[in-house]
Amino acid sequence: MFDYDLFVIGAGSGGVRAARISTSHGAKVALAEEYRVGGTCVIRGCVPKKMLSYGAHFAEDLSEAESFGWDIENPVFHWDRLRDLVQKDIDRLEGLYGETLGSHDVTLIKERTTVIGPNEVQTASGQKITAKTILVCTGGWPVSASCEGAEHAITSNEIFHLEEQPKRLLVVGGGYIANEFAGIFHAFGSEVTLANRSDVLLRSYDQEIVGRLIEISKSKHMNLRLNASLEKIEKLDGGSLKVSFSDGGDAAIFDQVLVATGRTPNSKGLGLEDVGVALDKYGAIKVDEYNQSSVSSIYAVGDVTNRVQLTPVAIREGHAFADTVFGGNPRTISYDNIASAVFSSPPIASVGMTEEQARDEYGDSVNVYRSDFRPMKNVVSGRMERGLYKMVTAGDNEKVVGIHMIGPESSEIIQAAAVCVVAGLTKADFDNTVALHPSMAEELVLLK
Ligand code: NDP
Repeated sequence: MFDYDLFVIGAGSGGVRAARISTSHGAKVALAEEYRVGGTCVIRGCVPKKMLSYGAHFAEDLSEAESFGWDIENPVFHWDRLRDLVQKDIDRLEGLYGETLGSHDVTLIKERTTVIGPNEVQTASGQKITAKTILVCTGGWPVSASCEGAEHAITSNEIFHLEEQPKRLLVVGGGYIANEFAGIFHAFGSEVTLANRSDVLLRSYDQEIVGRLIEISKSKHMNLRLNASLEKIEKLDGGSLKVSFSDGGDAAIFDQVLVATGRTPNSKGLGLEDVGVALDKYGAIKVDEYNQSSVSSIYAVGDVTNRVQLTPVAIREGHAFADTVFGGNPRTISYDNIASAVFSSPPIASVGMTEEQARDEYGDSVNVYRSDFRPMKNVVSGRMERGLYKMVTAGDNEKVVGIHMIGPESSEIIQAAAVCVVAGLTKADFDNTVALHPSMAEELVLLK
């Protein structure tokens, strides 16, 4: 009756996984993508950002090389070289994603496609296609600035392609993207100012850990302008940008302004409301725990549903959708204890409840253990930066309900710690584990 069993809109992490698993369950699948296969994570998000972050790490290593016996004369950073290398690798990854779709017999349609009925879509070139089930996974889109002169600012979509490294970079926002790019460009040698509308950065993270990041950022001479919203961006002769803030302080001059004030669900102009798909006030597609929208043949996964905006979550949702609808195995995913990291400098990593959340839920039975330490590498190099690990436990048996870290490699260490939290291990289980010495991770089993 239908052209396809499944029509997927959006070739990001969630869409590609859903399409691939659905074909392995025997479904006939088509997938439409208007831009590049791979989605935000691969094309203009996590992956290229992590590559830039690797590039940024060399700044510290090179500056400390002498302390470890190496003489390296006048290292010079070339933004254009790293930018192009990163883009080359993104091309490679995009190719691999396309190959995966091909090898799983997913028909790829490289056109914008909108929904015109509960079981029908239309491509930009006018082709109408029917499908028993439609899956929308069109992701999110960075929120642009709304002040006068907003058109002069860029978002994370553009930062990977800058012609030149900005000498003076203003980063607006206090979340993931702001803190990550502030750290990266600071390491590249740009003069970075991070401006946020309040004095709370990384709101969802343990604020003692965030406080350590702020302390370290200040000690590195990164400018923080808190309680300061954008008021006006003015382009001056010569191209630099004069920015006024709401804090009453002086306007300042920058070469680029990166706005990183959140991402909004990418649901506009897809025809969803016309066919009765309910959206929330942010434009997110409302779905149940099986990813089904208010129209029974239309499902959605990933950032367009605005649940947890993380790639591995979209992948899990896409997989669960395919198993549910085509694999005869209805299943939901758990949103508890999802490990996350901010690739700031140094990185922050976390799983489970913050101290505050735990106290709200478990009251006086909460205990907090801390390790405030100077990583060995920093001792050798003379760097004063300290790491901070926190473990939050609850109940008489001291079940570990949260682990929060800032320090080198914390984004690598947290994954194993998350297994322990998901497994419901207790403080005693950590204490019973022999330390791996010398390492930073050993702090987790030596907490007092
Ligand atoms: P975040 O939600 O992390 O942070 C948004 C920041 O902008 C907050 O500081 C917020 O302040 C501020 N803000 C929100 N609205 C406004 C406004 N109207 N004017 C001024 N400031 C505002 O968003 P990001 O853009 O940094 O990242 C988007 C999402 O992408 C993240 O939530 C995350 O899920 C994902 N991501 C994940 C990464 C990772 O896993 N490492 C990396 C990058 C992105 P306030 O706190 O006051 O609301």
